[in-house]
Order: sequence, then C-alpha cells, then structure tokens
Amino acid sequence: MENITTATLLVVAFSVLSISTMMIIKTPEMVTGSVFAEEDDKDYNVILLSIDTLRADHLQCYGYGRETAASICELAEDGVLFETCITNSPWTMPAVMSMITGLYPLNHNVIRRPDSEVGSLSHSKKTLAELLKGDDYAPASFVANKLLAKDIGYNRGFDTYIILDDEKAENLTNLALEWLEENRDEKFFLWLHYMDPHWHYGAPYPFSEIFTAIPHCSQLDDRLKHNAERVKSEKCVDSLIARHDNEIVYTDYAIGKMIRYLKDEGLYDNTIIIVTADHGEGFLEHDHLGHGNIYYDEALRIPLIIIHPDYGKGERIEDQVSLIDIMPTVLEFLDIEAENLDGESLVPLMENETVDKRPVISQGHLRRISVRTDEWKFVDKTWENGTHRKELYDLVNDSSEKTNLYDEMVDVSEYFEGIFREHFEMYHHNRTEDDTNSIDMEKFNEMLRSLGYMT
Ligand SMILES: [Zn+2]
Repeated sequence: MENITTATLLVVAFSVLSISTMMIIKTPEMVTGSVFAEEDDKDYNVILLSIDTLRADHLQCYGYGRETAASICELAEDGVLFETCITNSPWTMPAVMSMITGLYPLNHNVIRRPDSEVGSLSHSKKTLAELLKGDDYAPASFVANKLLAKDIGYNRGFDTYIILDDEKAENLTNLALEWLEENRDEKFFLWLHYMDPHWHYGAPYPFSEIFTAIPHCSQLDDRLKHNAERVKSEKCVDSLIARHDNEIVYTDYAIGKMIRYLKDEGLYDNTIIIVTADHGEGFLEHDHLGHGNIYYDEALRIPLIIIHPDYGKGERIEDQVSLIDIMPTVLEFLDIEAENLDGESLVPLMENETVDKRPVISQGHLRRISVRTDEWKFVDKTWENGTHRKELYDLVNDSSEKTNLYDEMVDVSEYFEGIFREHFEMYHHNRTEDDTNSIDMEKFNEMLRSLGYMT
C-alpha cells in the first residue's frame, strides 16, 4: 500500500471514535438477537449494501494492489465471494432495477430508448421488497442516488424509502442505524445504496489524503469525466484513480461502521448481508472515462459478496454470475416462492453443486447490449447518428479486450448474434401496453446531466 501516512492513522482513530459514539447500552434481550434462527430460516434479517460505481478489481480481495476495502474484505472472510459477477447494465438505473427485481433490463423496462426516454418498472413485475414485505419483513431503504426515484418504481414494497441526493456514506449508514434502532425487533430488510465512488470524486478529510492526486489534476473542472483527451495529455488518470480510491476507502469505512453495529448488538449472526455494486468505472483502459456506455469489463465486472450464517467462510466461487441472481438467491434462502425471474439462485453454487453455465446479458440502451460468457464477450452498439459497431473478444487470451475478433471468428459471432436475437424476441417483441410506460423525461434528463451522463 502506498502513502500510508498520518492520514491513514487518522482514519483509524476516526473510525474507533465514531463507532464508540454509536454504542448503545444493551439489555440482555437486545444482545441475544433472534433465538429462533436455528428453527426457522425465515427469521434471518436481510441487508443489501450496493455501492455505486465500484469495479471489482479496485478491492484488495479481488486482487487490487491498494488496500481500499478492509471492512468489505474482512466481511468476505465470513461468507462467499463471487470472483466474476457481471452487472446487467453499465449504468445505474437499469442495473439497480435488475438487482431488485431479478429481471433483465429489457424485461423490467427501465432502459433508455432511441427517443432518449427511460421506462419505468412494469406494473406486472414485483420487487424483492414487495415479496419480503408479503412475508412479514419490515422493509426500509436509504439511497444516495437521486436517479433511484419513486416514479421509476425503486420504492415498490418499501414502507420507508428515503432518497438523499449524493449523501455521504457515513451519514447514510447513520440514518440506517437510527432506523435499525427503532425496528431491530422486527424481521427486517434493509437496502442501502452508497454513492461516494461515483463522479465527482471528493472523499472527506482524512480519507481524501490516503492516495494522493497531483495538485494540478485536482483542479481540473467538473467536465473532466467527459474529457478523456485532456486527462490523457495532462497525465491525470492516476490522480483520478487516487481520488476514486479514496472514496472507496471512505465508503468501506461507513460499511465497517454498520457491520460493527450489527456485531455489537448481536444481530450479525442472524443477518444475511450482500455487498455489491451497480457497475464499474473506466479509467482510459479503452480511451473512455466513467461508465454508462462502456461494455468492457472495467464497467461490467463488479464485486459480489454474500454472507449467510450457514454458508461459506472465506469461500470463493469463480463461475460467472450476475446482479439478477441476487433476488432469487435471497428468496431461496428465505424459502419464498417467485415466478418468472430471469436470474437464478446462487445457492446450488454455494453448496458446491455443478450448475449449467449461463451467458450474462448487459444492456443500458435498447440498441446497446453485450453478451458475456467465461470465454467470450459479444457487443452490439448502435448510436444516435446511425453508427453501428459489433465487437467480439476472446476473454481467455485477451482479458483486457483489445482485439476485436468479430469479423474473424464468424461462427462464434453468429452464435452470439443468435442469443442477442432470442433475447429481443423473448422480451421486446412480446411487450404489452402496460410494459411500455415511461416517465417525465424533462425532469430526468436534468438529473442525468447533473450526474455527468449527458453533456
Ligand atoms: Zn451507478
């Protein structure tokens, strides 16, 4: 780890101090947690922690050289880490909806269309919160990305759904802990969506000092994200990465605070915890910064760590999985039925069973899609100006996705185009009127602009 300085020591001191202020005087009943856990799986609480803009390979438990995520990686020692989790979209809205519905973007309808509209969740679909609420869970969510709006349907099933625009990670954790204090005697489902690693990168002090940026790079303006040429010419990419990594350390600190609370209050051993992200972030690996329209692994490969008291203990699973698998996995843990999900439960993998390999489809726009297997990635993109590009990468021999084999490997390309066509036939050509509802685009385009998605 580089730049271990007084800033790092300050972070540690800060952590201890803040955690101690959260200590609550416990009665013996409070310490016990649920006494029914061994008799009835349904008494497990569920906490879903999603982090905006966090690629897997920026965490040390996924091989990163910097120690950005001590708490998350310590958590992984108690659970199962999925080495190859692929998001179902390189931008927030479709990806998060896939996470909480178990459905592909084309199926849940929250996807950008050629007319630039974004759909809202089809009325006929159910969210994880709706199903858990039907099973007597107390559902609550605190999200720090304003794109996760109620108009779209992200709040469906939640009794408490609080959107805090770009709220700092520690504040988000604190609000959730306040809610937990009030509701800990209920069987709860808590979802937090942290926003800090998303552009703009600006972790609070002392986290801002852990990995250092070159001063002139820190002063580049907010449109930096769209200015790959300038970042390249001024040699600022390492500085951007340093600032982004500081945000990861800060978010990890806030998650650590949540975990410490659960342990101190006797809730940890009776709670299923899932840590993941909506998508990653590009840092010029393919001449792009940010995410949104990038289908390379820097934008698609995200962390997935599942802690369940009965499974794993530092186990790592290499099989490719995706965000849509989270909901069916939680439902199987809790023995709750659901029909017609696109994702599949990961419980068989966690029980070391052999399962069929599945391609993962990622899509943020009706006309931009990728299909990925362990060996290949196929990408088909059409732009507003009519430009059309198809790509095929051999992930075994070219994991950095540099050589486009689309024209050379005709049979492989045709195979993936078949999957692509089937996917559209299944979900797009059979849509009903109810499945095509959309939202107030003027308002949403303004939000997208403020987050740097539109210039
Ligand atoms: Zn996002």
